[in-house]
Order: sequence, then structure tokens, then C-alpha cells
Amino acid sequence: DMPPPRFETIRRAGKCFLAASGREWGGQVRDLSLIVPGENVRARSTWREVSCWTGFCHCVKTCKVAEMSVKGSFQDADKVRELAKKCDILTLEVEHVNAEVLEELHQQGVPIQPLPFVVKLIQDKYVQKVHLQKHGVPLPDFEKVETEADLHSIGEKFGYPMMLKSRYGAYDGKGNAVVPNAQGITAAFEKLGGKAGKKLYVEKWAPFKMELAVMVARGVDETMNVTMRTYPVVHTVQRDSVCFTCLTPPVGVTQKQQELAQKIATDAIKSFGDARGIFGVEMFLLEDGSVLLNEIAPRPHNTGHYTMEACGVDQFEQHLRCVLGLPLGDCQLRVGGAMMVNILGQGETPEMVTKTMAPLRRALLVPDAGIHWYGKDGCAKGRKMGHITVTGFTPASALEEIRPVLVAVDGDDA
Ligand code: ATP
Ligand code: MG
Ligand code: MG
Repeated sequence: DMPPPRFETIRRAGKCFLAASGREWGGQVRDLSLIVPGENVRARSTWREVSCWTGFCHCVKTCKVAEMSVKGSFQDADKVRELAKKCDILTLEVEHVNAEVLEELHQQGVPIQPLPFVVKLIQDKYVQKVHLQKHGVPLPDFEKVETEADLHSIGEKFGYPMMLKSRYGAYDGKGNAVVPNAQGITAAFEKLGGKAGKKLYVEKWAPFKMELAVMVARGVDETMNVTMRTYPVVHTVQRDSVCFTCLTPPVGVTQKQQELAQKIATDAIKSFGDARGIFGVEMFLLEDGSVLLNEIAPRPHNTGHYTMEACGVDQFEQHLRCVLGLPLGDCQLRVGGAMMVNILGQGETPEMVTKTMAPLRRALLVPDAGIHWYGKDGCAKGRKMGHITVTGFTPASALEEIRPVLVAVDGDDA
């Protein structure tokens, strides 16, 4: 069994389809309801506790969701319709939802943000790329893949390695397969279910120096015109395609390059018209200083977790401000630097749970550490179980302070 955490626990009842009920401009944000898969909504759960990975939401007072919530899958059209009846505004914190029913409800006048068309086009990573390309956003070359034979001709054009990707349902790199050479085509195609008819596309390899990410908030101003704010640039490091650390400001990235990344991110989000909410924009910084966009998430994002300790208003609150039409909050860093590390599950046995929690214990010794344990059921290997953010006077000092925590993440295997 999981030892009772001694620190802040955010109970998490699974990915939620969130619905905010409130009034635009100055009204009370009263209630939030959500669809959760399963039965495990606790009677006194709050949005803060169940909806987001870690979210602190200052503009939302503790609100009871149990009596408001609808239990069921966010793919289930009837459940989503039922939920829509109970609230004023629908929003989401995961994009893999039933977008058709969102479009239907939106046509009937139900306020939904981000707009369903954006959710739909982001769901299909290929369509997302086509859309961004049409709006002049710099991307790695990409192409649709219908058959295995397509990959041979594309391989000759793109060169190797190239990255084969699932169009739908991808997260944490689970829909990706590296094609190292022409001989590796069959294996990659089969790995992603190409033979079984799964929809795929392929990208040219992006020989990046670093991966960067920017959170963009798109809300409205006093006259209800769309307005945007941009959070600082983050250097994100993936391990096995899963976000491992984020550092801001990024070390070794010039001011000009950071501004370029922020511009590409905001240009990309502008292409979504009147859609509101917070968006996570992942990018590649190449050796020559150019920046390519990798993908966009229409919701609070792992690379925005640091905002809780480091910025005026964090990404979770900002998201609600955006969708509710409240004034946007300050995105600027309130510290010199911040580094976040994800805590991934090591396994279900008690020893593995203890091992998983070791970095959290170590972080208790770090003065400026924000420790987040999501309190999920189980501790499956590779599952995101929590995260730690350490702030400092400079990015270098944040890095220095978090180092023993990183060592504890790798434990004895390091
Ligand atoms: P997420 O969990 O962020 O939603 P995902 O499963 O949607 O991830 P991507 O973001 O497309 O997957 O890719 C995961 C990682 O794979 C990237 O962060 C990057 O490290 C690597 N990657 C993706 N596309 C390319 C590319 N074209 N060239 C090189 N590396 C790539
Ligand atoms: Mg993704
Ligand atoms: Mg990604």
C-alpha cells in the first residue's frame, strides 16, 4: 500500500472532463463538474483536487463536485450531453474526448472552450500539422502514410532516421516509432498498428539541439476581444519520449531564440481563431538557431507545472480565467529560475513505491521545493505519479538545488 504522503496531496480521480460553471466578467465562479471514469469521486472532492495534475486554482473557491458530476467516459456522447446540461461552460484537461458531441453541443449554443474544432484538429496530429502548415508555422516535413510502401518512397525523400507517428490517441511517445533505416520500416509500421489499419503519418527527423516549450494563454480583454499572454520559455528534456525535466529560463538559449520560440508559439495559437484556454506548445531548437513546432496541447501541460511555484498566476488558474472570460493573470517569472522533475512510477510492489517516493523525501530537505504527489491509485511503471519544482535566484541555482533530487530519482541504478 502507498505510504500516506506527508506533503500536499492532490487526489486525482483519473483524467477528468471538466466543466466550469460560472458567469463571465465579475460573476461568481461557483461550481465545476466533471466526468470521471469510474466511481471514485470523493464526496468532498474539489476541482483543485481532482481535475488537474496538481492544480491550484485561486479563483475557484472550494466547490463540491460530487453532486454535480457525471460518472462515465468522456467518449460517451450521452454522458457529455448530460454534463453540458449541468453547467454553463464546458472545458477540458485532456484532448482525447468525444469531439463530435462537443461540436453538436456547441452548435446548439453550449459555450465550450477551447472551441471544439480546435480540439478536433489537435486530436489528429496529421490534421494539426496540415492546419499549422497552412498558417505558415515552421514544422518538420511530414507526410500521410497509407501503406508500408509509402514509407519506402518517403524514406528516400526524408532520409533516415525518420519518425513514424500515430495520428490519434498519442501521448508520452506511445504513438511514436523511430524508423532507423529502410530495413526498419516493417517493424515500425507494425509496432504502431499500421497493418491493422491504424492511421499513421511520418515526420522528417528534427536534429534538435534542445526541446523547448511555451505555454500560451488566450483569453479576452475588457471589451471581450481575444487577447494573449505568453509564459517564459522552458527547456524540456524527455526520457524515453516522456517529459523528464523542465528548466526555465533555458540555459544556452539566446534571448533572440527565446523570443522566436514565443513568437512561433503565439502565431500557432492565433491560427485557432476565437478559441480560448491555455495551450502547451512543444518545439525543437535546431543547431542553426531556427525553431520548429512539434505539437500543441489544448490544455494545461506538463511543461507548465513550474508556473505554480514560479509565476504570478499558474497555468491552471490561467486556463479558467481564459475560458470564463476573466481578466488574464501575470505570466512572468517571480523567481530567477525554476526546474521541474517528473516522478514516474517504478512499480507496484511496496519496495517500488518507496523507491518512487524517495525523491519526494529528498526534496523535503530543499528549501524552495514544491512537492506534488497526485495520490493516484497504484504506482505502475512509467506512470506520472507526481512532480517536484525547485526555484532559485538563477536557473543555475535551481539546477544546483534540485540535483540531489534528480540523483534520488535514479536511485541505486544511477
Ligand atoms: P506528449 O506526451 O508530449 O503528447 P507525444 O506522444 O504526442 O508526446 P511527440 O511530442 O510527437 O509525442 O514526440 C515525443 C518526443 O519524440 C518528442 O518530445 C521528441 O523528443 C521526439 N520527437 C518527436 N518528433 C520528432 C521528430 N520529428 N524528430 C526527432 N524527434 C522527434
Ligand atoms: Mg502529444
Ligand atoms: Mg509531445
